[in-house]
Amino acid sequence: MQKNELLYEGKAKRLFTTDDPNLLITEFKDDLTAFNAEKKGSESGKGALNCKISTELFALLEAQGLKTHLVKTLDDTHQLVRKVDIIMIEVVVRNVATGSLSKRLGIKDGTVLPFTLVEFYLKDDDLDDPIINNEHCLILNLVDDVKKLDILREKGRKINDILKAFFAARRLNLVDFKVEFGIDENGEILLSDEISPDSCRFWDMDTNEKLDKDRFRQDLGNVKMAYEEVLKRILEEK
Ligand code: UDP
Repeated sequence: MQKNELLYEGKAKRLFTTDDPNLLITEFKDDLTAFNAEKKGSESGKGALNCKISTELFALLEAQGLKTHLVKTLDDTHQLVRKVDIIMIEVVVRNVATGSLSKRLGIKDGTVLPFTLVEFYLKDDDLDDPIINNEHCLILNLVDDVKKLDILREKGRKINDILKAFFAARRLNLVDFKVEFGIDENGEILLSDEISPDSCRFWDMDTNEKLDKDRFRQDLGNVKMAYEEVLKRILEEK
């Protein structure tokens, strides 16, 4: 399958049309951004690492019955995916308080939450991705039915259950992550976008070392090494 026109260029990926109207090609870029693209960087090989990591994690989730947009991975940095209408909600799932949650509510960084928290953020860089509730989602027409929001929460929790256990077996603490969903031509809700250290926080269970994009956000260095370590753990046989 060949790339045709560039349909969209985001911060970390490009999206291309193909000869099949229901299929697109995603290209993973080496670019890194943080704080709503105020901080920009690039790490050679990061795109390939995220492509591989996301491929592995989507395959794991598919195997557990969670439908995703991934059709197949074409090469180091390209995936063939189903065309979906992206739901403009960032679904954030948290096990441990850190980042914007700690800042907003004053919960001490690193506090284990008493239960898994699912939050919705509006996917809108101009507005700085504000946190939103069910009513905001309906007022903004982000979904046509409140039941879809329950499905997003349920899927977020299921993804968390699967990934948290998978990473715990590999001595990584899945602190939080962001996922996006889309609706395909049959009206089915599919996990879309990517799951990678760009969109998750992983803390080493033994050393507490951060192995994710916080290394870039906080100038901790060794960004690529951290992503390589996450991939290495994913590929460990258990
Ligand atoms: N996240 C993301 N994209 C965003 C915002 C957040 O992938 O636009 C991820 C982030 O990597 C983390 C989780 O969602 O794993 C929660 O992020 P948080 O709200 O704490 O935001 P931050 O502290 O990064 O501003």
